[in-house]
Parts: sequence; C-alpha cells; structure tokens
Amino acid sequence: LMKKIVVIGSSNVDTTLHVKDFPKPGETINALEVSTAGGGKGANQAIAAAKSGAETYFINRVGEDSEGGFITHQLKSYGVDTTYVQTTMGSKTGHAFITLNEAGQNDIVIDHGANYELTVEDIQAASDLITSWDCVIAQFETPIEVTIAAFKMAKKAGKITILNPAPAVDKIPDELLKYTDIITPNETESAKLTGIPIKDKSTLATNAEKLHLLGVKNVVITYGDKGAYISTADVEELVPAYKVKATDTTGAGDTFIGYLASNLNADLSNFEEAAKIASRASSIAVQRLGAQPSIPTAKEVENAMEDDE
Ligand code: ATP
Repeated sequence: LMKKIVVIGSSNVDTTLHVKDFPKPGETINALEVSTAGGGKGANQAIAAAKSGAETYFINRVGEDSEGGFITHQLKSYGVDTTYVQTTMGSKTGHAFITLNEAGQNDIVIDHGANYELTVEDIQAASDLITSWDCVIAQFETPIEVTIAAFKMAKKAGKITILNPAPAVDKIPDELLKYTDIITPNETESAKLTGIPIKDKSTLATNAEKLHLLGVKNVVITYGDKGAYISTADVEELVPAYKVKATDTTGAGDTFIGYLASNLNADLSNFEEAAKIASRASSIAVQRLGAQPSIPTAKEVENAMEDDE
C-alpha cells in the first residue's frame, strides 16, 4: 500500500561559495567555485518521502522570483506534488548562503523569505488533504502557529504527526507537543531541548525519557554514524548506522525522516524495521554529494538491503 505523506516546511535555494579559507571581517576574497542547489529541510524531507515511494504533497510558500520556479521544478522532478506550493507576490524565495572552506567547515546565513509567510489560512485551504492523508511532517523553518494548526487538524482526523525539531530550540510550545506523535531530533537538537549532553547509550536514554516527559510518546534521536535511538512503548534501542565511507552528510537526517515516515505502519507497530530501512537509506545518501540528489530511491535501498543479506 502506498503511503500518503504531507510535508509542511521550508524550501530554499542553497548558494554555496567554495573558498580556501573563510574571509576575515572586512576582507575581500575570491571564490574557488560557486554552486547552486535546492535545499531547505521541508523540501528535502518531501523529496525523501517521494523518492521512498510515498505519494507526497508539499505545503510551502516561495517568492515571486525565478528561484521559486526553480524550486517547484526540482520538487516536481522528484515526484512531489506541488499543488500547495504557493507564490507570495512581492516576496523572495528562501535562500541559504553557505560558505564552505577546504577543510569542509561551513558558515550559513539564511534569508527565510517566503518560508515565513506561510499562514494558518494556507493550512485551512489544504484541510481536505491534511485530514485524509496518512501523516504530516513539519520542522521549525516555517511559522510555528502554522505547524500547530496543521498538527491539530491532523490529530483530530486520527492521522500521524511527525515533528523534526530543527533547527535547535530550547523549548517547544506545549500546544504543539500535545499534537505530536513522533519527535525526531538529532543529537544537538535533543540535547538543547533536554539540557543533557549526549555521550553514549545511557545519555540517549535519559534524553528520550525527558522528551517523553514533555508529552511525546515516540522518540527517535538520530546520532550520526552511530545510528538512531528509538524509544517507544515497545522499543528502547539504538538501531546502529550502516558502516560506510561518508563523503557528504548533508541531508542524512532529512533522508532518515522521509524514509521512516514512509515505512511506518499506521499503528506504529514496526518502528524498528522502519528505522532500519531509514538508516540504510541515509547510509546511501551520505556516500553521495548534495542533499536532494543524494537521496536514494526505494529500489536502490531495496537492492542494497538484499545485497546485505
Ligand atoms: P544532517 O544535518 O547532516 O542532514 P542530522 O544531523 O539531521 O543530519 P544525523 O543524526 O547526522 O542527522 O544522521 C541521520 C541518520 O543518517 C543517522 O541516524 C544514520 O542512520 C545516518 N547517518 C548519518 N551519518 C552517517 C554516516 N557517516 N554513516 C552512516 N550513516 C550515517
């Protein structure tokens, strides 16, 4: 059965300035290369869901500029339905300016642009979709009141809600937590929410415990090349990552979330199995360059898992 997933979130154009060293304040330097790609956590997760084989809608706003057209085109090319990607007149599409040095470190400046212009009315206009589709995924790169409205609507209809609490915050409004079924922070995001630094399996467990106390039943803490910690009523386990040689981990988390959502049963009875598939998918993504193009298709993940056996 094909999963039906709605992703609400951001889309950005990522402009990467490749430099030898970061410029010092006041300094002018030449870029070694400049590259452009589609990005934004919402768009990446929507593309991951679509590539994993789910029927996927993305709810988002772009600006009245060529970048908006570029983003919509990219999403469509990966199979995401863009009916609810709207244009805000007179506004600019979200844009991330990334400076990447030769050591692989980066500095990022984001112009949220139209991402912050998504409204509760946009959610109401998509109510037929939100109340009939299997699950809704959101992050923190669009207005929080919009996410609350969407999650409330989805929960009233008995649908699954997944919150990726990124970028990191130290507090999430209770009203949003109340409507969240699954929370998926990475190590940094979890530690910021709980105040407990993650060092090992035992600190993962105490992090998960704290997140449960906030009112969320299902916790998934992704822990880079060490795996993903699952804490639910039935499972308490660190699902290990696949051992691979990583070349670019951008989008690893987004791939994991898209695949997890796509492979979870409606009654959430197969968390471990879904996490294993998500982990295998992310392990393929980290071996390739770029965020969106690096996300594997369901067939690629299936083949890789067959070869593992
Ligand atoms: P990013 O911000 O880089 O997109 P993230 O910080 O949101 O990622 P991570 O916890 O780094 O998310 O990674 C998500 C999942 O991807 C991990 O749980 C793991 O399964 C897989 N993964 C990440 N890095 C590696 C790696 N080097 N090798 C194998 N698997 C990895």
